[in-house]
Amino acid sequence: MISGEQLYVILLGAPGAGKGTQAALISQRLGLAHIASGDLFRQEQASGSELGKVAKSYMEKGLLVPDEVTVKMILGRIAAPDCAQGVLLDGFPRTLEQAKALDEALAEEGKRINMVLYIKVSNEELLRRLSGRWICRNCQAPYNIVELPSKVPGKCDACGGELYQRPDDTAETARKRLDVYFTQTMPLIEYYTKAGKLVEIDGEKGIEEVGEELVAAIEVRVGK
Ligand code: AMP
Repeated sequence: MISGEQLYVILLGAPGAGKGTQAALISQRLGLAHIASGDLFRQEQASGSELGKVAKSYMEKGLLVPDEVTVKMILGRIAAPDCAQGVLLDGFPRTLEQAKALDEALAEEGKRINMVLYIKVSNEELLRRLSGRWICRNCQAPYNIVELPSKVPGKCDACGGELYQRPDDTAETARKRLDVYFTQTMPLIEYYTKAGKLVEIDGEKGIEEVGEELVAAIEVRVGK
């Protein structure tokens, strides 16, 4: 834990910016629970729940799941005991409505978002990364066939699970997801800048370097 306060940190960035990879690295280092909305939806789908079925119809088209459903899922998740030290949110919020709902829910409990880390990557680089991305079916760890291949092809280094390409990473859906990001999620950058919470990090550097910059930014902001 790096401060006495319960920390709420948001990782903001387009699909393919490296949020999942970085969140896995820094949440462990800083003792924060890593909460990825996309992973939660994929788990719901795998379990065959009603929520999973609703989410699937949006996800396979590259569209956002409606705010009401998404906010309810996340607020339930951040109330769990493993979030007692703090939370690193990855992939949520993705719309202004979600951001406002989150601020309101936290304020009701006398809490707040401490900071928002924006991992900035160019559009061309995002498309290149998304088309090479493979994910572990078991633990969701992300790999990239070019930049971050697994040691044994097709198998996860961490748990030995099978690697697969997400159906929404195919070229057409990836392009749609980037469109959705630019129209619906980009306004959050202005929202959190105005709130004095945004810190921009260059996401085109190497994975370790980006990770170090993210950890340093959190430590500077909230104290070691
Ligand atoms: P991700 O794994 O973060 O790329 O998310 C995969 C898909 O899950 C997205 O394309 C959306 O369909 C859905 N999703 C994840 N997070 C959210 C969110 N905060 N709001 C709405 N839909 C989301």
